[in-house]
Amino acid sequence: METKQADLIIIGAGTAGMTAAIYAQRAGKQAIMLEALSYGGQIINSPDVENYPGMAHVSGFDFATALYEQAKGLGAELRFEKALSIEERGGFKVVRTAKTEYVCRAVIIATGAKNRPLGLEKEQAFIGRGISYCATCDGMFYRGKVVAVNGGGNTALEDAAYLADICETVYLIHRRDAFRGDERDVEKLRNKQNVIFVLNSTIKELQGEDRIRAIVVEDKFTKETSTIDVDGLFIAIGQMPDNTAFEEWAELDAGGYIIAGEDCRTGTPGIYTAGDCRTKSVRQLTTAAADGAIAALAACQEMD
Ligand code: NAP
Repeated sequence: METKQADLIIIGAGTAGMTAAIYAQRAGKQAIMLEALSYGGQIINSPDVENYPGMAHVSGFDFATALYEQAKGLGAELRFEKALSIEERGGFKVVRTAKTEYVCRAVIIATGAKNRPLGLEKEQAFIGRGISYCATCDGMFYRGKVVAVNGGGNTALEDAAYLADICETVYLIHRRDAFRGDERDVEKLRNKQNVIFVLNSTIKELQGEDRIRAIVVEDKFTKETSTIDVDGLFIAIGQMPDNTAFEEWAELDAGGYIIAGEDCRTGTPGIYTAGDCRTKSVRQLTTAAADGAIAALAACQEMD
């Protein structure tokens, strides 16, 4: 096993993690980001971000790439390794991956969150066979076809808008009649001829043999069910954190989020948390970036 040293190990290279790396490097500390998948986190799947201050429009991919280039340009390192555990040794923190142990002075956990599944039978089997959690990644496979989007948050609204420009018909299925996402985006969808709102409804069944062919939807009030033929289903019902590997060091709430306030401190000195993986009421690019800055500055100050 290789041993590597750094001032700061950042677990996760999403918006929070990469912002933390920028601030740490500018504070004169060496930061290494550990990332299991690709840099950028969830925002990489957003086709068009319209609410980051100073940028009227930017694709999530361009935003994430610019952030990565900025962190790299300042000397931060990104390693594609999944952090498996944290331990303490002689006043240092040690973050382990499958092949390396990183000895450092502070750790920022910025693991973000992963897509929440519906939990229906056949859901896993149909991934890549009509079921997707990423409209920008897979939308083009459904050009001219009929799809459904499930969810009522910003992701579902953005996905529906993106797919409406590609697909013949988009059913937007949401379990309530009010949306959690921005009203402006709901209004845009109402003006699209090929978007059909299916509200107060939940998906009860996925039908098809080799791939998804139809979904069975139940009305919340009448309990009546109807079958909608679809070529694809985009599931956008929110995210779940993935922090259990670190619960010994950072207390989790009932939903699995790391309990921390706006100062991004966990209960363990030298271990901070930033972005969507921590308890917070607003999970946006802006708040993820803010957390990254706060956590990195706090960690760097404690090293001096
Ligand atoms: P979200 O805001 O948590 O919304 C999840 C939606 O899925 C909610 O409408 C929820 O319904 C519904 N839902 C949850 N569990 C469900 C289930 N089991 N069955 C059916 N429906 C279910 O998630 P998100 O849209 O992925 O957004 C996550 C965060 O990222 C949010 O803070 C969002 O604002 C942010 N975001 C920002 C941007 C942007 O800034 N451009 C883009 C995308 C996302 P209820 O409403 O009834 O709870």
